[in-house]
Amino acid sequence: MSTTTLITRIGSLVTNDPGVGDGSPLGLIQDAAVVVEGDRVAWVGPADRAPDADLMHDAEGRALIPGFVDSHSHLVFAGDRTAEFNARMSGHPYQAGGIRTTVAATRAAGDEELEANLVRYVREALRQGTTTVETKSGYGLTVDDEARALRIAARHTDEVTFLGAHIVSPDFADDPAAYVDLVTGPMLDACAPYARWVDVFCEKGAFDGDQARAVLTAGMAKGLVPRVHANQLSYGPGVQLAVELGAASADHCTLLTDEDVAALAAGTTVATLLPGAEFSTRAQWPDARRLLDAGVTVALSTDCNPGSSFTSSMPFCIALAVRDMGMTPDEALWSATAGGARALRRDDVGRIVPGAYADLALLDAPSHVHLSYRPGVPLVSEVWRHGVRA
Ligand SMILES: [Zn+2]
Repeated sequence: MSTTTLITRIGSLVTNDPGVGDGSPLGLIQDAAVVVEGDRVAWVGPADRAPDADLMHDAEGRALIPGFVDSHSHLVFAGDRTAEFNARMSGHPYQAGGIRTTVAATRAAGDEELEANLVRYVREALRQGTTTVETKSGYGLTVDDEARALRIAARHTDEVTFLGAHIVSPDFADDPAAYVDLVTGPMLDACAPYARWVDVFCEKGAFDGDQARAVLTAGMAKGLVPRVHANQLSYGPGVQLAVELGAASADHCTLLTDEDVAALAAGTTVATLLPGAEFSTRAQWPDARRLLDAGVTVALSTDCNPGSSFTSSMPFCIALAVRDMGMTPDEALWSATAGGARALRRDDVGRIVPGAYADLALLDAPSHVHLSYRPGVPLVSEVWRHGVRA
């Protein structure tokens, strides 16, 4: 038998189980308790009905939420783009080509440097309450460099995505078709063993609809599940391609036509919104309210990367989503936890229910609403990942 721990005197518990508590999507229980057994949640309910356990932890009336599920990040990289950010904030627009700077630095870095960088950012995220991390390749753009990135990512993150089609490699600037052949051929063969997902940046200056379709269908033929960088910088075919191919997620969704929104509403693809990118590029916010009102499932994620969104903070993204994207505090919390889990097709994270991983964040606040009510304040005080205090 594993050791059991009773976390009790939880002022406000977010379970994301609408079948318990107040019956809302958050499944809120006041004066609650949770029992952790080994790496899993064993029991959830009112504190006065909690069973005995080996150990006891007093939450002192604070709020307990599921650990954040960050379903979109780019953490295998080297180098720094402070100068680019500084220039952009001085009035120069962001273009997809800035990625080349990070590609050059990443190729030049040793394995140890890349691994140390990745571990640092995963720990930084964990301290801020993120207990599930997806990360991507995409700064190597050669067969060996992409496979190396994924090999390192698979050692330290929960979900790994092959993004050889981030931009056309500078080595193939004159022949993008040949680069797509490389990505869908030898690069995919080398990378597929380390990844669950295949992704493509479907965007002007990156890959058009036909190229994106070729990348995704080749990955699917190798058993990878698609997700798409779609409709970030311009209107385009990304979202509808994602829905058509049954992608788990269409990410960014900043510039959408009514047809795009209708397609998302009719399909199973989650719309993952990444407000750190709009913040860091002074771009138009994605309209979460429009998506939610249409019945689309929305996730929130950081897009943590050194170029366009260098934040690992899910609470920051929640605050932006509430302030500027029309989400309620409840919706934003759901999207940053259960929504991220949906975008990764996981039902064992993002919820505090019996059988799920004991991934928990205790806030120095009486309610999850404080995550947007008190923006910028480090409210995450204690984190458990798979039942272990971080
Ligand atoms: Zn991204």
